Amino acid sequence: MARALVWFRRDLRLADNPALQAALAAGYAPVPVYLHAPDEEGEWAPGAATRVWLARSLAALDADLRARGSRLLIRCGPSLAALSLLIEETQAEAVFWNRLYEPAVIARDAAVKSALRQRGLRVESHNAALLVEPWTVATGSGDPYRVFTPFWRNAGRVLESLPLSQPAPSRLPAMSFAGMVPDELGLGPAPCEPDWDAGFWEHWQPGEAGAWELLEAFLDSAIRGYDQQRNLPDRAGTSRLSPHLHFGEIAPWRIVQAVQGSGLGQAHAADLKQYFAELGWREFAHHLLYHFPHTPQADFNPRFAGFPWCDADVDVLHAWQCGRTGVPLVDAGMRELWQTGWMHNRVRMVVASFLCKNLRIHWRHGARWFWDTLVDADLANNSLGWQWSAGTGADAAPYFRVFNPATQATRFDPQGRYLRRWLPELAALPDRALAAPWEHTELLRRLAPEYPQQPMVNLRESREAALDAYAASRA
Ligand code: FAD
Repeated sequence: MARALVWFRRDLRLADNPALQAALAAGYAPVPVYLHAPDEEGEWAPGAATRVWLARSLAALDADLRARGSRLLIRCGPSLAALSLLIEETQAEAVFWNRLYEPAVIARDAAVKSALRQRGLRVESHNAALLVEPWTVATGSGDPYRVFTPFWRNAGRVLESLPLSQPAPSRLPAMSFAGMVPDELGLGPAPCEPDWDAGFWEHWQPGEAGAWELLEAFLDSAIRGYDQQRNLPDRAGTSRLSPHLHFGEIAPWRIVQAVQGSGLGQAHAADLKQYFAELGWREFAHHLLYHFPHTPQADFNPRFAGFPWCDADVDVLHAWQCGRTGVPLVDAGMRELWQTGWMHNRVRMVVASFLCKNLRIHWRHGARWFWDTLVDADLANNSLGWQWSAGTGADAAPYFRVFNPATQATRFDPQGRYLRRWLPELAALPDRALAAPWEHTELLRRLAPEYPQQPMVNLRESREAALDAYAASRA
């Protein structure tokens, strides 16, 4: 039986894997391969949190392959050289993979595809990650979309005709080529570092099985009421599938099909619509990244070119990163991020607004920190999220919309459960003092002496300063 390499990248699953299915359907014996080549992702090589996730996800994929008689062949890049060597060793006649959409990876893949085809190999790439690939939808005048609502009105029609589900193959041909194990890739904390990821694994199970468990839990409970509860950070009101989607451990169309098939009636129509719209934002983010590949680094909206950002003072940035700003909702979010590798979406918006507007630090600094600390760090979603929050992006919140973290805490965490969970030093404060403890100086001094006694900026004054800077830059 002729062999084909199936090059796994961020499609770390066996069910609904179009490249694997195509290799099998064409009659090849698949040789599953993972190539470690972070340098080929340019400025955006995986951050620390996604690296520790990746190590576990590769181990899970390898275990799933072994259970079917095969295994994952792990090698180090450069990718073209490693593939060439593998083709020689395995006598493979074809290479299959699933597409990615980051600019550096697109360039790398195009070069690999053309080099391998010149050598007479069959090379195929497929879509495993998106409901709608970026070049398949356009405005009436043929341009890329810049606004979400019309994008999703058009692209969202795909929900009516999704690919059929393809179960994981039950057996795969054995193979005996030598490779590395995930631990040898050095993806975890360095030997001199503490095990900063130790707390992550109470919350996450990387790999395909972990993705399905979360989806089932979501369908059992949080989907009912998602429209409202998705904004409440103190509860499991969202699916938490973002890292699994980033690593391709579950196909987005399988999520949609599972939600559509969950038997929720008209009473939950708003919940389903909102959930699909959130998946739509992920599609929109990829659409934007593909058509505007400069946006991970540069403002989408050129009007911000002359905006007077403040210098990113190391101590100020450090206080924000560690959750020591003295503003509870911001600090709780940053500590949730540090301890679990994830942060609730509402709180992401608040901490980003605080950095870009109250502290007036360029969104790129926030995006970098998220890149290193989020287990779901994703170039498309992170760039969109930061530019949206900063007001510099496509279809962004207007710059003058400055979230007030105290009001947001009162509204979305009225009992202070989220704040108390992540800021135990504030636990003794009464509910009424939690969101803005600096207004209760005596209580704060007595009941929470270890917490900053004043916020690092005055929220009202810094908001006004940001609006003045914005007005001046527009003038
Ligand atoms: P759910 O509410 O269950 O939504 C389902 C899925 O839809 C998510 O898993 C995600 O894939 C997608 N989704 C939901 N909201 C958004 C959104 N606003 N934009 C794009 N896709 C969305 N998301 C990432 O996956 N990676 C990032 O690096 C990232 N960085 C962000 C940075 C900022 C400043 C902000 C404001 C948002 C960022 N987001 C990012 C978007 C969003 O916060 C997360 O996708 C969401 O919190 C993940 O939780 P969930 O899986 O429970 O979402």
